[in-house]
Amino acid sequence: MTRIFDEDIAGGIATRAIHAGQRPEPLSGAIMTPVYLTSTYVQDGLGDNKGYEYARGKNPTREALERNVATLERGRHGFAFSSGMGCLDSIMKLFRAGDHIVCGENVYGGTFRLFDKILRHLGLSFSYVDTRDPQRVEDAMTSSTRALLVETPTNPLMRLTDLAAMSVVAKRHQALLIVDNTFATPVFQRPLELGADIVWHSTTKYINGHSDMIGGIAVVLEDDLAAKLQFINNAAGAVPGPFDCWLALRGTKTLPLRMKQHDLNGRQIAKFLVERLGDEHVIYPGLASHPQFELAKRQMSGFGGMITLEMGTRERARHVLEHVKVFSLAESLGGVESLISHPASMTHASVPADRKADMGLSDGIVRLSCGIEDVEDLIADLDAALPK
Ligand SMILES: *Cc1c(COP(=O)(O)O)cnc(C)c1O
Repeated sequence: MTRIFDEDIAGGIATRAIHAGQRPEPLSGAIMTPVYLTSTYVQDGLGDNKGYEYARGKNPTREALERNVATLERGRHGFAFSSGMGCLDSIMKLFRAGDHIVCGENVYGGTFRLFDKILRHLGLSFSYVDTRDPQRVEDAMTSSTRALLVETPTNPLMRLTDLAAMSVVAKRHQALLIVDNTFATPVFQRPLELGADIVWHSTTKYINGHSDMIGGIAVVLEDDLAAKLQFINNAAGAVPGPFDCWLALRGTKTLPLRMKQHDLNGRQIAKFLVERLGDEHVIYPGLASHPQFELAKRQMSGFGGMITLEMGTRERARHVLEHVKVFSLAESLGGVESLISHPASMTHASVPADRKADMGLSDGIVRLSCGIEDVEDLIADLDAALPK
């Protein structure tokens, strides 16, 4: 397992983002961690190796990324995976048939699909709950519940879950609290500090930030849990290639800087949209009109660049989606470039219609991932694309 270097816990988040987990390469002193393109490692003698045997188990480029993100999340162990879904699938291998999992109702569409279409048939059972209300979560816990899985803010309804309150419920039932921190990133929210057991990401999004790789990562504090995840990481083998790790490691160097700009742009664009559409049509945790604004301020140190619009009808949503020029119509989020999407037919297409209706995920919803272009250009683009 990749434990952090003890000396890497010091310093502010921007310093750790640039340096943590990395050492000059011993052969030449190269400042950048090389892409170790190798499947195996030569051993000096029988049972005498340098700690590396086969690259499914360990790769130095991957280890640098794992240490780097682990220190950003204030954890001790990091585990990189070939995608966010590969990461979650491996985390779920901690459980066995008969175990019950309580899950937020508005989680990422692919998370719901993995649970409902695959893991349910392997004997795990799931209850989907509105995790905004800790009492509902408490009521859903049973004697077989082994985990509580939440995402905050959620995608695309931007609902918040009180992580400290979830930690109390999870601990009372000896269940693991597992948090998808893809949206907020460790720059704005650190679930392990609020009592989570496992924090995980789709590194495809903000962590890498440049829309040029697919990956996932999990971070934990506790050594026993880390040993179990390390075993799964190697035994199930959903590991990333070294070049993708190198890209993500390059991405984390600017994560704090990028998040600052996503947040600045997000706040200004949300303000413009409220003036243009009225606050009942704009969902952003940094708006005083967000029903959980107080929790947002307490739990997060920034609100980021994800904004959701309720356009009312599919036709009005389509108008915006098809008239933007700087924003690109695409799935995904968290890159430097601005993207716009229609969750009901794109990212959440796999969620059944009745569940979408229950959650309020309507056809009029448009999701913006505000990038770090000049904010004036982004505002002008939306102004021109919104129906008059
Ligand atoms: C994209 C995403 C995932 C899935 O990650 P992949 O890297 O696409 O497999 C999980 N959770 C959230 C919140 C996401 O945005």
